[in-house]
Amino acid sequence: MIPFLDLRAAYVEMKDEIDSAIARVLDGGWYILGPEVEAFEAEWADYCGAKIAVGVANGLDALTLSLRALRIGAGDEVIVPSNTYIATWLAVSSVGATPVPVEPDPRTYNIDPSRIEDAITARTRAVLPVHLYGQPADLEPIVSLARKHGLRVIEDAAQAHGARYKGRRVGAHGDAVCWSFYPGKNLGALGDAGAVTTNDPQLAERIRALRNYGSSRKYVNELLGVNSRLDPVQAAVLRVKLRTLDAWIGRRRAIAQIYTQGLIGTGLILPYVPEWADPAWHLYVIRSQERDATQRRLSSRGVGTLIHYPIPPHMQTAYSDLGLAADTLPIARDLASEMLSLPMGPHLTLADAAKVVSELK
Ligand SMILES: *Cc1c(COP(=O)(O)O)cnc(C)c1O
Repeated sequence: MIPFLDLRAAYVEMKDEIDSAIARVLDGGWYILGPEVEAFEAEWADYCGAKIAVGVANGLDALTLSLRALRIGAGDEVIVPSNTYIATWLAVSSVGATPVPVEPDPRTYNIDPSRIEDAITARTRAVLPVHLYGQPADLEPIVSLARKHGLRVIEDAAQAHGARYKGRRVGAHGDAVCWSFYPGKNLGALGDAGAVTTNDPQLAERIRALRNYGSSRKYVNELLGVNSRLDPVQAAVLRVKLRTLDAWIGRRRAIAQIYTQGLIGTGLILPYVPEWADPAWHLYVIRSQERDATQRRLSSRGVGTLIHYPIPPHMQTAYSDLGLAADTLPIARDLASEMLSLPMGPHLTLADAAKVVSELK
């Protein structure tokens, strides 16, 4: 059996360090925010090449609080990719704004910068690119278009820990960069966790207040905040795992190389990597018109695969109110029926990756 992802192996490899980090928090007696969260925030900002990181409870809150901190809400529009996990859209909806989808470049699967301008209206406040599958979106044209129109850029980097755009790590190209440390991500906690990185100190302060009841001084509430604090136990775990993040991305890259070298010429459509991109290989996604049959065959041979994502946001019942028929966004609709994510993770052996290749052939 080759599982899609072995999360327990990640814990086992670092068990001693993780256990002692957790024990340190328990012994320290400080269980909300505090030194462990602050230390992780500093280390994460540093890794991302950003001035500031603010830890929050999860990736969805990182997005939602960034939108709120930028005062985006009812009546506003935010440009989002049509091809993404629904969390990107839900964050926009949850602040009362409207997600306005733009189709992806069919080679990179990321938002197509050349289609963004047509979607801008008088109500548009921000562009929210997603670095899907760990492949960086084409940030330069997105940021310059946003600046030209007075829009904010909020990045959904939930799948892009360690990805580089033109040599520089994702983490501070836009106004706010939103991270999830959901266990299956490249940098994963042992539960829910998230963060926002930014170079804007005022924005960071607003997010810091919003995550903690809208208060920057105890019992003084300037904003209508929420409780979305990063748990110090998770922060301690993340500090341990951050030390191996680059090495583990290296293992992902080696697996991606085996897949790409082995599958060239099979007729399957393989990930396209622009010359300016250094992906973090969160997922290795192939495309085939016989996707479902391929997935069944692999499953019968013990190879676990997943579909990211089977139903695009505009075709979800939750978004029926937007009135977007399936064929209004044909690229997102078609990708959803052709994409297949192969086993990928730092604990997949190269031998197993080679076995996946031979099963696919
Ligand atoms: C995982 C993910 C999120 C949400 O993160 P949570 O921590 O689960 O809230 C948002 N956007 C994308 C693209 C994701 O993959």
